[in-house]
Amino acid sequence: MAASDLINLPGLIDDAKCFALVRQHRWLEGARCPMCGSGAVIRDGHDDTQPSRQRHRCKACSGRFDDLTGTVLAGHHQPLRVWVLCFYFMGLNLSNRQIALELGLDGSDVQTMTEQLRRGLVAKAPEVELTGEVEIDEVYVVAGHKGQPAAVAKRAGSGAGASWQARRAAARWRRTSRRSLA
Ligand SMILES: [Zn+2]
Repeated sequence: MAASDLINLPGLIDDAKCFALVRQHRWLEGARCPMCGSGAVIRDGHDDTQPSRQRHRCKACSGRFDDLTGTVLAGHHQPLRVWVLCFYFMGLNLSNRQIALELGLDGSDVQTMTEQLRRGLVAKAPEVELTGEVEIDEVYVVAGHKGQPAAVAKRAGSGAGASWQARRAAARWRRTSRRSLA
């Protein structure tokens, strides 16, 4: 039986120390507001379900944030200690598969985690996340040439087959003019 079958490594890791580690790496000189950048922040209790996760309030913009806000570690179902261990194993050059075995996780979960951690333990989360319904601009697809490639080539040459950018700009113009006429 392998050692990893006997030892539940994440269970031995101290949550409070993991959050302290993140704070230390993220804010060398004390917490700063991720919204406005101000250092005028005060402690504001702890997370309801994770008692070691410090909440902060910004006196400059009144924004509220915690140790993980704005980092790739926020909003994930894996506890912070699992992320920290994953990061540690990456430093030992373990493969995603080995990390998954050690942590008892799904290989694809570990792949996602290591991709994000490659930018650093406290890397900033991407600015824009598209969620819910996303509207895509009108798209014009040039129809098949139906066995008449010469005709299509001729039309393209004469300018009728304008670039997709031009067609998209025209579509946008049509939409805005419709709106202003309404
Ligand atoms: Zn602020």
